[in-house]
Amino acid sequence: MSIDIPVSLLEEYADGKGGLDGKSEICDSQTMIKRQTTINRIFKLTGIGLHTGREVVLEFLPRREFGIAFMHRGSLIPARYDAVADTRLSTQIASGDSSVATIEHLMAAFYFAGITNCLVYIDGPEVPIMDGSAWEFYQEMWRAGVYEFPENGVYLKVLRPVEVANNDAYVRVKPLNTFDITMSIEFRQPVGKQKKRVTDVENAFAIVNSRTFGFLEELEAIRKAGLAKGASLDNAVAIGEDSIVNPHGLRYKKELVNHKILDLIGDLYTSGYRLLGRVEAHKTGHYLNNLFLRELFSDPANYAIY
Ligand SMILES: [Zn+2]
Repeated sequence: MSIDIPVSLLEEYADGKGGLDGKSEICDSQTMIKRQTTINRIFKLTGIGLHTGREVVLEFLPRREFGIAFMHRGSLIPARYDAVADTRLSTQIASGDSSVATIEHLMAAFYFAGITNCLVYIDGPEVPIMDGSAWEFYQEMWRAGVYEFPENGVYLKVLRPVEVANNDAYVRVKPLNTFDITMSIEFRQPVGKQKKRVTDVENAFAIVNSRTFGFLEELEAIRKAGLAKGASLDNAVAIGEDSIVNPHGLRYKKELVNHKILDLIGDLYTSGYRLLGRVEAHKTGHYLNNLFLRELFSDPANYAIY
C-alpha cells in the first residue's frame, strides 16, 4: 500500500529527520495542553461540501469564551453534543433554523491541535470535506499557533464505566488517567475486520491523515437522495467490489479503522473536553458516539472536570 502524502507537507515539516516520523512528533507535541487555548491568529480555509458540492469558506477567530462554536447565518451554534441534531451521514449541529453538518473531522483537528476555544464563521451548511481527513484543518491550526489562557478545566475524567450499544455496535469507556482507544470495524470484503489501539496521541499523524471512505453501492443510493454531490476520489476512499478504486490506493494499511478513530475523537470532542478514559469501540458511528456523550453527562457522578 502506498503512502500518499502531498509533497508540500513534506517540505512544510522537514525537520532534519525526514520522513513521516518527524511530522508525527509535531502532531504529538501539540496535544499536551493543561489550560484553555485558542488559535494565535485569524485564518481562512475554503473547500467544497461533501454533500452539497458547493464551495464553503471557513474563517477561524480566536475566542476567549470556553469551547468551539460556529457562527452561521447570524446564529451561534456551540459544537457540543447537546446541540447535535442529526447523525445519519455526519455529525450535524443545529440552533434554531441554522445548522452545520460534517463537523467531526474539524473537531478532531481542534483536538489534535490542542485548541479548546475557537469561533468558526461558516458561510454554508456543511464543513468542507477537504481531502477527506483532518489534515488540512490541522495543518492550518498548527501554522496559526496556540494561545494559552490561564484557566484550566479542559479535561474530563471518566470516573465510572459508561456504555452504550446498538445491535452489535458499542462504545464503552472505563476510568483511566490517559486517553486510550481500541477501535474495531467489520465491513464486507475487501475490508473485512480491522482493529487498532491508540494510546494518548501515539500515531496521531496517521489518524489525522486518514480519509473518509465509502462503498460504491452506498454512494449510488446516497447520490439518488441528492447527497454526496461533492464526493470524489480526491476526498474519499472508494471501496469497489473487490478493491480500492482510488488510483494510489490507501495511505495506510489501516486507513479505514484509523478514520473511524478520527471520527470518534472528533465526536467525543463535542463533549467540550479532552476525555481521559479507556475507550473500547466496535462498529460505532456518529449516532452511537453522540449517544455515549448523552449517557456520560446524564449523571454527574460519571465524570470529573479538571
Ligand atoms: Zn469521517
